[in-house]
Amino acid sequence: MDQRYEVNGVPLERVRNRQELRVIDHMRVILPQVSGFCGCELCIEDVYAASLSQLPPQYIPLGSFAPRKDHGLDADIDTLVRQVIDKVRTRPNHDTAGAPTSTVARP
Ligand SMILES: [Zn+2]
Repeated sequence: MDQRYEVNGVPLERVRNRQELRVIDHMRVILPQVSGFCGCELCIEDVYAASLSQLPPQYIPLGSFAPRKDHGLDADIDTLVRQVIDKVRTRPNHDTAGAPTSTVARP
């Protein structure tokens, strides 16, 4: 339990941006269709973070997530995730050896 996310003993980590799972659903479908994508942890994280940054967040408690009625993809998120994947594919945030080029410290 990360206490930075706790108020009066109530854990707030379970309040999530509903867009997170929508982006993940799309990444799982789209990534196997893209050839030439690096696919390392850093590139996948970059696609996830950049996609979410461009979507208006919708924060709700995890328990209130309604099960999806259909498993179809949303056209707007589909287009966005494909664009972001293409950006990361052509300009990965690391050199060809896999070393990060950003100054952000990584474990
Ligand atoms: Zn990579």
